[in-house]
Amino acid sequence: MADDLVLFWHRRDLRVRDNLGLAAARKRSSKVIGLFCLDPGILEGDDIAPARVTYMIGSLAELQASYKSAGSELLIFKGQPEKAIPKLASALEATAVYWNRDVEPYARERDTNVANALKDEGIERSTQYWDQLLHPPDALKTGAGDPYKVYTPFWRKWIEQEKQPPAPALTEVTGLSPHQKSLANKAGNIDLPTAEALGYEWDNPLLLEPGEAAALAQLEDFCDDQRAIAQYDQQRDYPAITGTSTLSAALKFGTIGIRTVWEHASDAYSRARSEETRNNIRTWQQELAWREFYQSVMYTFPGLAKGPYREPLKDFPWDNDEDLFQAWCEGKTGYPIVDAAMRQLNETGWMHNRCRMIVASFLTKDLIIDWRWGEKYFMQCLFDGDLSANNGGWQWSASSGMDPKPLRIFNPASQAKKYDPEAEYIRQWLPEIRHLDTGALVSGKIDPEDLEGTGYPSKVVDHKEQQAIFKERYKAQKN
Ligand SMILES: Cc1cc2nc3c(=O)[nH]c(=O)nc-3n(C[C@H](O)[C@H](O)[C@H](O)COP(=O)(O)OP(=O)(O)OC[C@H]3O[C@@H](n4cnc5c(N)ncnc54)[C@H](O)[C@@H]3O)c2cc1C
Repeated sequence: MADDLVLFWHRRDLRVRDNLGLAAARKRSSKVIGLFCLDPGILEGDDIAPARVTYMIGSLAELQASYKSAGSELLIFKGQPEKAIPKLASALEATAVYWNRDVEPYARERDTNVANALKDEGIERSTQYWDQLLHPPDALKTGAGDPYKVYTPFWRKWIEQEKQPPAPALTEVTGLSPHQKSLANKAGNIDLPTAEALGYEWDNPLLLEPGEAAALAQLEDFCDDQRAIAQYDQQRDYPAITGTSTLSAALKFGTIGIRTVWEHASDAYSRARSEETRNNIRTWQQELAWREFYQSVMYTFPGLAKGPYREPLKDFPWDNDEDLFQAWCEGKTGYPIVDAAMRQLNETGWMHNRCRMIVASFLTKDLIIDWRWGEKYFMQCLFDGDLSANNGGWQWSASSGMDPKPLRIFNPASQAKKYDPEAEYIRQWLPEIRHLDTGALVSGKIDPEDLEGTGYPSKVVDHKEQQAIFKERYKAQKN
């Protein structure tokens, strides 16, 4: 095996196990040095969540330790990747730079710039690895050879495809000599900063500990004990229950490999003793396919990142009332299920999926506010914030996406009745009204006298009236 110096650029694959590009770099050379760029193009954006940066920095700290145990190191740079990476590669006389591909428009443009800059320096690039997905985003086509725009047929095709096993972990590599280390430092290598030093403060606990070890433990806990995954379909819609995997941040930052995730889910499926258990596990696998579907459409139709897919929503006359938006953000709309969910988001950096759908429907259909405002607010709060999944979720909720059944309006009271019938979730997040009757909390029909002294607001809009207005405008827009 060659021992020429190869750099591996980590982005949303903060792990040494089951990392396709990193395994390929290791196959090529025994001298693999990791690098991560704190990119101002991302970190100085106005859609960054402190919880997300905290998770990322914690994961990078663990990744540095993993490189050390493998015999090498992870270097940290702050600055534009197209400048920092060629500078480092030249300083170290690296033969090649490896990285995994990404679906997002910004990442694709950035990667092209980095590749061109390396080419100018005569440094080889190896970038063909689709590590973050089980199937490349352009791999699956309809019978007519077109990209999929609808989830269900995508899922049918996706589940039929053979899935790769996990890639080998990084082991037994050599790192930089002291001289090379000083060259790396001169080229801009810095100590890993804290999230606070980058301007992001998050003091609350994270739902999932940063790093590879915690993500794997969480996956094992979810799949291997046959409890949560085995009841996923029955429990996943109830926000008061911990019935989902809470692996979303791990999947966003790649602290877990998707092949490893799939292997655990498939093992659980093979071990299942009843059809019912298998169906529950299947439903979870379908969620993984939703993740791939949204990444696949983002890759094929990058315009989704900017605006609605469907014509009727392109010039929709939104009300965009700033005060109502503020009330929604703060969880002060007077609709308990909506407010509980927004408080969960603000306090934990995460929100249950059922509630993401409820609050997104409420913002767009009841407050008649442009879904992109909500999409951005989610990105400013979510520790799992991910362009493809978030945009997909918002466009689905706003009826602006590719979904074949466009006009979906959630009634907050019916949703609460079905998914939080004992108001456990509502009480958890709205302590000021937890003493009220379950019926009132669930239906949202609260006597104004009962709100006196609680600080909790009465309803900011009327659901029935607002949905009628939305429907009318939507109809007019469509014609
Ligand atoms: C308006 C809206 C915004 C959303 N924004 C995001 C986001 O920024 N980042 C994000 O990861 N998910 C987002 N989702 C999808 C979903 O809510 C979360 O993935 C899920 O709640 C994460 O919890 P979990 O890890 O316990 O999921 P589980 O139920 O255990 O699902 C397993 C994994 O599948 C993926 N997944 C599940 N549901 C979806 C879905 N509907 N779309 C895409 N992937 C899915 C996630 O990676 C998740 O970790 C959004 C959904 C909506 C309706």
